[in-house]
Amino acid sequence: MSKHVAILTRHHKAHLIAPALSQLGWQVSELDSFDTDALGSFSGERPRFMAPDECALRKAAIAAELSGLDIGIGSEGSFSAGPYGLGTFNLELLCCVNVAAGWAVTGRFYGPSMAQQWQLSDAAALEQALATVTPGQHLLLQQPAYLAKGLSVEQAHTLALERLAQGSVTLGYDLRAHMSPERQSHIQQAAADLVQRLQSRCTNCDTPGFWPDKALPGLPCEACGTPTSVTRQRQTSCQRCGHTKWQKVAAQFANPQYCPECNP
Ligand SMILES: [Zn+2]
Ligand SMILES: [Zn+2]
Repeated sequence: MSKHVAILTRHHKAHLIAPALSQLGWQVSELDSFDTDALGSFSGERPRFMAPDECALRKAAIAAELSGLDIGIGSEGSFSAGPYGLGTFNLELLCCVNVAAGWAVTGRFYGPSMAQQWQLSDAAALEQALATVTPGQHLLLQQPAYLAKGLSVEQAHTLALERLAQGSVTLGYDLRAHMSPERQSHIQQAAADLVQRLQSRCTNCDTPGFWPDKALPGLPCEACGTPTSVTRQRQTSCQRCGHTKWQKVAAQFANPQYCPECNP
C-alpha cells in the first residue's frame, strides 16, 4: 500500500527524493503554492533569517498543513566555509514530519562544494573565471541594482562583457536546486540518509529516527590511557519516549597524537 507525502518546493525537488522514498512505499507530490523564497532565498533577494534545521522543519510542517496529509517534507540547503576554514561546504537537510504521529526526522548531506564567486573587473579575469566553471552549472551575475540568474556559461560571458563597461561585476554559481547539478546530487544523498533514519525505529516505542547522532568523546590514549577527544561511544536517544542506547566504537584506544598528555 502506498502512502502519499508532500514536499514544499518551487524548485522541482520531488523527482530527486522520490526514488529513495519509494523504498518506504511513499509517493511524493510537490506543493508549489507556497513561496519558499519568503523564508530566505539563494540569490540573495530575501535575507535568510532562520537556522537551516529550523527552516527545513518549518517547510515540512507547512507542506503537511497545506496538503492535508500526515507527512510533510521540507528541504533546505546552505553553504559555509569548510572545516578549518578550507573551501566551501554544502549542507543539505531534508526534514520529514508526521503531524499525526508527532515526530520529525531529518536526513542530511554535508560535503565539499565546487561553488565559487568572483569579483571581476576585466575581460581577461572573466575568461579565466569561466574556464574553471564545472560543466552544467548555471551562473549568477550581479552589479549594484542588477541581478541575472540561471545563466549558461555562454550567456554569462556575453552579459558580463556588456556589464563590465559600467564597472566591475560579481559572478557566482546559481545555487538554486533546479539550476545546480551538484546540489541535486547532494539532495539525493540527503534523501538516502533520510530513508535510513526513517527505517531505524525505537526498540521501545517504534518511533522512526532512532539514530546514533551523538558522539561521546573520551577514547583512552594508546600510550598513557588518558581520555582523548576521540569518540569513545555513540548515543542513540528516542525523541518520543527517551529510550537511550549506547554503543562503543570498534577501536579500544586512540592514537597518541590526539592525547592532551602525549601531544599537548
Ligand atoms: Zn521510543
Ligand atoms: Zn597519552
